[in-house]
Amino acid sequence: MGSSDTFHGWVCSGKDKPLEWKEMPLKHFDADTVEIDVSHCGICGSDVHTLDSDWGEMTQYPCVVGHEITGVVSRVGDNVKKFKAGDRVGVGAQSGSCLKCEKCKNGFENICAEGFVNTYSGNWANGDPTYGGYADKWRGHQHFVFKVPDNMTNETAATFFCAGITTFAPLRRYNVKKGDRVGVIGVGGLGHFAVLWAAAMGAEVVAISHSKSKEQDAKKLGCVDFIDSSDKEQLAKYKDSFTHIVCAGYYSGFDWTSYLTLMKHTGTFILVAAPKGTLDGIPPLLLLFKQIQISGTLIGSPKQIEEMLQFAAKHNVRPWLNKYKMKDTPKAVQDFRDGKPRYRIVLEN
Ligand SMILES: [Zn+2]
Ligand SMILES: [Zn+2]
Repeated sequence: MGSSDTFHGWVCSGKDKPLEWKEMPLKHFDADTVEIDVSHCGICGSDVHTLDSDWGEMTQYPCVVGHEITGVVSRVGDNVKKFKAGDRVGVGAQSGSCLKCEKCKNGFENICAEGFVNTYSGNWANGDPTYGGYADKWRGHQHFVFKVPDNMTNETAATFFCAGITTFAPLRRYNVKKGDRVGVIGVGGLGHFAVLWAAAMGAEVVAISHSKSKEQDAKKLGCVDFIDSSDKEQLAKYKDSFTHIVCAGYYSGFDWTSYLTLMKHTGTFILVAAPKGTLDGIPPLLLLFKQIQISGTLIGSPKQIEEMLQFAAKHNVRPWLNKYKMKDTPKAVQDFRDGKPRYRIVLEN
């Protein structure tokens, strides 16, 4: 293993262990490999869940997290024609799929059940572990690497690759447009993106939050109104009026009845949060009598990621970021845990 086949990254060696900057092996370089000098990486809630082994057996230590990666291509394999050294590119939460199943062939690589490769805490087809973007270099498969649009910086682009696509894809799937009214529950990393997208798609957006301190921000992000979710009168004002609700803030004891009451008939409730356990307390009669659907969604396909980047470039959608140096990653992760981001942290090399 030569030094050109290693990288340095923030390694977590086990649950509750600190992050340490260490040298690690890169994946085997093959004909479909794109190698990147990482310039930026966003911090996603999934990173912290993985570091903490919140998802049980799923974490493979030693682990390097980070799946909102942008950088500059340093080297490409022989099969790679769409990128060359020097191109600015990004990678999200998915780095591989089987590319052969019915889902992959029809543009649903993001829900491939045969060969989904997580950008970190996973394995490539040959068994090499996957490592994420809290690092100086990254290697992966060309199918899941994307050019950053010319009028967008890498710093801006990074968080699009997970938080951005997770919210963009379902809003497009359920055809959010002018004339719609979209409620966004929870104004955080995902929720702030949902507001930006829905507003850019022409909808009237209303934030729903238990945190009054977010009201001014919600309006600056593009909301026409703000509902304090603990205030029954404010909620009542929007009864039967939301064509869509994006839930980016699910909590235990979630009050389904109060939120589904806000939905217009045939509306879509989109769950973008990833709660543990089961969804309890859904009132079936409200679903029936209003013909409401509750929908799940998982990141987005490569085609949707391309579409998102173009949409963001065209409509000038820009996330609100807090920048930290890559060397200060442990502090950035702590600040994330403390709920400080307004609204997404990006690490910079
Ligand atoms: Zn993520
Ligand atoms: Zn597949």
